[in-house]
Amino acid sequence: MLLVKHIRDLRKRLDAHRGPIGFVPTMGALHEGHISLIQRSRAEQPVTVCSIFINPTQFNDPKDFEKYPVTLERDIELLGLAGTDILFLPEVSEMYPSGTDTGIQYPIGYLDTVLDGQFRPGHFNGVSIIVHKLLSAVQPTHLYMGEKDFQQCLVVKQLIEQQHLPVKLITCPTLRETNGLAMSSRNMRLSPEGRQFASAMYQSLQHIRDGQKEKSFPVLQAEALLVQTQAGLEPEYLLLADADNLSLLSDFDVRKNMVVLAASRLEGIRLIDNLRM
Ligand code: AMP
Repeated sequence: MLLVKHIRDLRKRLDAHRGPIGFVPTMGALHEGHISLIQRSRAEQPVTVCSIFINPTQFNDPKDFEKYPVTLERDIELLGLAGTDILFLPEVSEMYPSGTDTGIQYPIGYLDTVLDGQFRPGHFNGVSIIVHKLLSAVQPTHLYMGEKDFQQCLVVKQLIEQQHLPVKLITCPTLRETNGLAMSSRNMRLSPEGRQFASAMYQSLQHIRDGQKEKSFPVLQAEALLVQTQAGLEPEYLLLADADNLSLLSDFDVRKNMVVLAASRLEGIRLIDNLRM
């Protein structure tokens, strides 16, 4: 695996390459979920590029940024074992040569007003800024992202359409721990007991999916919130939405693709998850 820190070196390597390129952007502290994206890209594309960059402009909470886990040596080892061709590992000054106060505002619209958009002001603008910059640097034909960050996938899909970017977004399924907890770099900061209690997040989503033929969404939502709070989770939201555009639904509608999305806190760590209905 080739490790590259500067965009000019990345371009030198990739300009000579003519075929498709798969790209997996990450913030490091890698787990099997990340590796599944690398494997998918490897299976489908002749060249796979991964980036590790903890993007300061997408953290609305400075403490979350400071505490974001870093396990670089292990990440490099895992990416090498997974057969990644190039690891792009830029410094903040490489991605933000004029500083992180960019003043750039993407037209995110509705997606910035609901769910994580509502609870993390500025987050999706930061995501849009960095994804656009990384796509300009790597110039991939295929972009691999995880459905775990469901709303992020829709924001990036919209970005690609709005900016006419020549890349195809491929969304990949969520990898989970054996207890159902969605794998996440932030899980490393949970205590061993916390990791067990955090599985209530997935259980609450399953409860809604399994009950949808018998009960209304508001009833199941209340029961699911109870599942979470009894395990010590502090829910931020747990909502039913149209999976195509995230417009919120007051009850199940079989004519629509549906998804339930949730965010909750445990031991000061913010967990998100979602499940298709
Ligand atoms: P992150 O490093 O958290 O920014 O994630 C990098 C990419 O990995 C994003 O596209 C995520 O959606 C994806 N990802 C994170 N967790 C998982 C998971 N448990 N399963 C599959 N993909 C994931």
